[in-house]
Amino acid sequence: MRVFKFGGASVNSVERINQVANILRHHKDEQLLVVISAMGKTTNALEKVAESFFAGNKDEALNLFSQVKQQHLTTAKYLLVTHYLACEQSLINFFTEVEWLLHDKPVRDYDYYYDQIVCTGELLSTAIVSAFLNESGIANSWIDVRDVLRTDDNFRDANIDWQFTRQRVKSVILPLFDKNNIVITQGFIGATDENESTTLGREGSDYTAAVFANMTDADDQTIWKDVEGVMNADPKQFPDAQLISTLNYAEVIEMAYYGAQVIHPKTIKPLQNKGIPLYVKCFLDASLPGTVIHNEPVHELPPIIVVKNNQVMMQLMSKDFSFVGERPVGQLYHLFEHLSIKPNLTQNGAISFLCCMDDKPEKIQQLALEASGIFDVNVEKGLSLLTVRHYKPELLDKLVAGSEIVLKQQTSDTVQVLLRKPA
Ligand code: ASP
Ligand code: MG
Repeated sequence: MRVFKFGGASVNSVERINQVANILRHHKDEQLLVVISAMGKTTNALEKVAESFFAGNKDEALNLFSQVKQQHLTTAKYLLVTHYLACEQSLINFFTEVEWLLHDKPVRDYDYYYDQIVCTGELLSTAIVSAFLNESGIANSWIDVRDVLRTDDNFRDANIDWQFTRQRVKSVILPLFDKNNIVITQGFIGATDENESTTLGREGSDYTAAVFANMTDADDQTIWKDVEGVMNADPKQFPDAQLISTLNYAEVIEMAYYGAQVIHPKTIKPLQNKGIPLYVKCFLDASLPGTVIHNEPVHELPPIIVVKNNQVMMQLMSKDFSFVGERPVGQLYHLFEHLSIKPNLTQNGAISFLCCMDDKPEKIQQLALEASGIFDVNVEKGLSLLTVRHYKPELLDKLVAGSEIVLKQQTSDTVQVLLRKPA
């Protein structure tokens, strides 16, 4: 069995859904578990619905939600004829679940409502794609992943119950292949033992696919994207970025760690643990070779460049000239944990500690406030963090030219520089 994952960009228009069908038509004789995201920017739109609802703006929430409804109904109408009515009924059922909730007043915390609302995106997209494939002669079974993928109730970043889910994959998903070669399900969402919907963190569909690949001992997993494959830099920032045709999991997990937006970082472990190869392919042109990621050593990698903009540097200085030793640093890491802040770069000196983080304003403010009980705190915003793996000195000089280096850290294979753009 193989696992395919189609992201939001691959299902965000009638043409693209047609293209998904073209790809699947080529694989009709293989057993495929197909994990699909919400269409295009639906997740963002549903986040806005959740925000309005929680802020007490019921009418605005219903209004925003009705736009999401219309988009999906229109897409379904374009794509379907014989299967339209049955599909419309499934869509209406999902709409109704959300609308019931929107008519109430919020009494639980935000993250709970977020998940109950946002999970709808994947249910809608898969219902439409599944109906369209069936109508196009690509027989498939649709399954609500919330009946299979069990999580805890850590809403918005739920943790999978592996044992329960593995057992449900065996008893619910695998038997569906007796009927059809293709099974369609949702990425990113799950449910608790009390049937509350949960989500696994933004961009979590790659992870869902990897979890299922692991649990079914899949032959391989393919992530279909709107890019050629994994590139050595973001082509939007570096027009001469090149495709990397072969990578291994150790490299990819480092790339993801440093902020490359290749694949959701959690995706790697379930695949690596079972030695399942991961293909990253372009859904716009399936004949392109794409990238394969496996466990073998890979030599001669090009320099891999990752830029994270919108960085904050926090300088924490001892208040009385005492060393910034294990104790204050330990306290600081407790604050990171408590505020779910992941520093991207840290450096310890005798009487100061530097850390660089993504600029999430409320969290940064909270951290500065709480840390000011231990240190004198200084914050600088608007910096960029450049990471280059397998770097060459000439390339680094070129990349930092015109910026001021605030902080630099270097190992034999990775260099990181925090940069300040000239005023
Ligand atoms: N639809 C979700 C998101 O946009 C999950 C995903 O696309 O992987 O974050
Ligand atoms: Mg996506």
